[in-house]
Amino acid sequence: MNVDLHCHSTISDGLLRPSEVVLRARAQGVDLLSLTDHDEVSGWEEARRAALECGIDIVAGVEISVSYGQETVHILGLNIDPTCPELVQGLAATRSGRERRGQQMGEGLALVGIEGAYEGALRFVGNPDLISRTHFARFLVDHGVCRTTQDVFNKYLTPGKPGYVPMQWATLSQALEWIDSAGGIAVVAHPGRYRFTPLQLTAFLEDFKNRGGQGIEVITGSHSPDQYKQFALVAQEYGFLASRGSDFHGPGESRLDLGQLPPLPDTLTPVWTRWTA
Ligand code: AMP
Ligand code: MN
Ligand code: MN
Ligand code: MN
Repeated sequence: MNVDLHCHSTISDGLLRPSEVVLRARAQGVDLLSLTDHDEVSGWEEARRAALECGIDIVAGVEISVSYGQETVHILGLNIDPTCPELVQGLAATRSGRERRGQQMGEGLALVGIEGAYEGALRFVGNPDLISRTHFARFLVDHGVCRTTQDVFNKYLTPGKPGYVPMQWATLSQALEWIDSAGGIAVVAHPGRYRFTPLQLTAFLEDFKNRGGQGIEVITGSHSPDQYKQFALVAQEYGFLASRGSDFHGPGESRLDLGQLPPLPDTLTPVWTRWTA
């Protein structure tokens, strides 16, 4: 079964509408999909309808931004009830600082001679509630400041760079409570991407597990083949359910298309066995 449990639409920082993501997943041979927009579940109805029409299985999902010490980590909530009030209200609170942060990012960029970046980024936003660094990156590429969005992140949008504004996102325990209230399974997104020392990574994973977290992404578009192996071992060591997701944001922008990933190692328990079995 081709399973892809991590991707984005115009509801957050993806390039395709929810229905277009679903149709593309179907065309790429995906059998089971989850749309996991950042801090927002309002793409669900459109995605669900499209999935019903084209005959692909779908579960509701979300990718929650969490502040953990100095680091931002992303926690996926999979197979959630997207109407759960605790979840919906929690996500709304998490999103609420983004407009102000966007303005501050624009001010930071103006200080290094890039004028109008906030207004420029807004032109790339699909959901006014969810302006993200990705929209700034697209604007700066379009504006000729950098050649690729990756260059923009490296030069302007990461900690210490002029367009970076630290944020207080949800806490780990809030994210886990919202996902639990919504009946979903919490999964650490792209664990290989965080700037943790090995000791910090261990402490984080133990904390996540002790608070009821159940899964980690092993096969993701963000991991190298060495990291597939590393996090397969981590999943076994901690007894985590394993997930697979492309983290697709759009054609031509994402390294991997929907469903275009190696299978999970068969030593692991796939997270989807929790709702397909
Ligand atoms: P935000 O939630 O506004 O901080 O934006 C985070 C999003 O920016 C992530 O979900 C990615 O889509 C994108 N992103 C973060 N770091 C990078 C990077 N180094 N290169 C390209 N995209 C990135
Ligand atoms: Mn993103
Ligand atoms: Mn992420
Ligand atoms: Mn993502």
